[in-house]
Amino acid sequence: AFHAQVHTSAKTGKAARMAGCVIDITGRKTLEQQKNEFIEMVSHELKTPATGIKAYGQLLQDRFLHNDPETNLRLIAKQNKLTNRLINLLNRLLDSTRVVDGSLKPHLEKADINVLIREYVDDLQSLTQNHQLNFRAAEKQIVLVDKEQIGQVLTNLISNAIKYSPEGGDINITSETTNDGQCMVSIADTGIGIDDSEKKKIFERFFRKNNDSTRSSTGVGLGLYICDAIIRQHGGEIGVKSQAGKGSVFYFLLPHHEAAIVNMAKPSDND
Ligand code: ADP
Repeated sequence: AFHAQVHTSAKTGKAARMAGCVIDITGRKTLEQQKNEFIEMVSHELKTPATGIKAYGQLLQDRFLHNDPETNLRLIAKQNKLTNRLINLLNRLLDSTRVVDGSLKPHLEKADINVLIREYVDDLQSLTQNHQLNFRAAEKQIVLVDKEQIGQVLTNLISNAIKYSPEGGDINITSETTNDGQCMVSIADTGIGIDDSEKKKIFERFFRKNNDSTRSSTGVGLGLYICDAIIRQHGGEIGVKSQAGKGSVFYFLLPHHEAAIVNMAKPSDND
């Protein structure tokens, strides 16, 4: 999240201003602060597909040198897919603050969560050399989701798992049905972990742990805040189980398709 920006900002001293927002947040936000938050959020959401498009472009450049038309076509198709995702996100992000305040309703579609996860895991794996992403699905699970938004959640959680764990550490992604019939997706890493005292705070806007092991990593603490907003809008729940120094398991729960229809039907009766 925010890799390029904060990197640059750190050099210009702008990061100190961002950190200042964390402290000011208890007071009334100025228009300037709100504008900054909006710009940060937009940039955050655009970063992942933009990085993917660039990476495929670089791969294509290499492949063309080797004159490998089949691979080139495959890479172009992937690049087009990411470009479409970027355009969708741009359209959506024009009013991204509404995701968080609840006024931007998700565009719900029936989807097999495992197909969606597989797609995002494959995309992220192709951009990650130092971590193996393993995906295991217990059974087919149909959910009612905004695919783009749930994709954003998967991207944020998997990117964090990569960012906060050592090179070579496996990331295990699983999808299963809970005893009470919900769909549960977990992302487990073997990284730095999270102290009990911080497990709630990490979902707050702009919260970043600031110790030796994380100071060098980039980000401004918006990813989990956005994930939480998206999952709650889907009638689900997000959380973390973690042991400092051993690793973290981030998970989210979503109602299964039939349960979602029953729940969604209630509020819309009053629309
Ligand atoms: P960012 O990564 O941009 O700082 P996030 O909202 O995604 O923002 O995360 C907030 C904070 O939660 C991070 O700064 C980090 O301290 C902690 N965190 C998130 N994911 C993990 C993880 N997988 N392992 C350890 N700490 C994490």
